[in-house]
Amino acid sequence: MIAFERDTSDPAFELIRGDAPLVVSMPHVGTGLPADIAARLTPEAATLVDTDWHLPRLYDFLGSLGATVIVATQSRYVIDLNRPPDGSSLYPGMTTTGLVPTETFRGEPVWVDASPTDTQIAERRERWWRPYHDALSGELARLRAQHPRVVLWDAHSIASVLPRLFEGRLLDLNFGTASGAACDLELIHAVLAPVWAQRHYSWMLNGRFKGGHITRHYGRPGDGVHAIQLEMAQAIYMDESAPFAFDAALSARLRPLLQACLGRALDWALKG
Ligand SMILES: [Zn+2]
Repeated sequence: MIAFERDTSDPAFELIRGDAPLVVSMPHVGTGLPADIAARLTPEAATLVDTDWHLPRLYDFLGSLGATVIVATQSRYVIDLNRPPDGSSLYPGMTTTGLVPTETFRGEPVWVDASPTDTQIAERRERWWRPYHDALSGELARLRAQHPRVVLWDAHSIASVLPRLFEGRLLDLNFGTASGAACDLELIHAVLAPVWAQRHYSWMLNGRFKGGHITRHYGRPGDGVHAIQLEMAQAIYMDESAPFAFDAALSARLRPLLQACLGRALDWALKG
């Protein structure tokens, strides 16, 4: 019997606490917008086109694993929870979006007038970025006190064709471990075993997406916290054009593979 506790005490996130050594973070699924921020979005940005759509529904099996799940409530246009708090670039020299994006992934402006000021960005950081990270670090510490090792899975998805960000069509499954720094090699081998064993989905480890701030910051193998980011091409489970509909048939095909990967991750953590 797994006991769960749902925590909605802070409007920046929803948290479900489990007792297994597995935390799943979904920093880009939020579609919430404070009214003053919503009023400043361009029509293109107002569709929230760069959202990591439907991940809680796709990953609907996490409860059965006893995972702790933290889900952002606000849009990434309010503030990007997977960027460092000082706004430094994740991929120096390459096109990427910042702590408060000024352009969509397609290069269209996010804001109708001037971009948010440094003061406004600092306010958003304290109001929306900080609580998510305080909760995430608190959950990792809680579970780490119960288990010798804990896996953090940072779940993402993105449109599969974005010429500004990458060439051609993105591979289906893009695993990132900060080029090996964020987790034990044995863990990523365990997670990739079911991926190796199938031929339907293309995949890559530490290619274009190596893991964002969450993976790089919290993945501390020496301290028993092992982080993996999975960036998925949205075409493998949904319609990438507005209104961004969930595809139940595609999802049903993909879900068992995700479940196998997460199951392997949990087995590895429990073995420690
Ligand atoms: Zn994302």
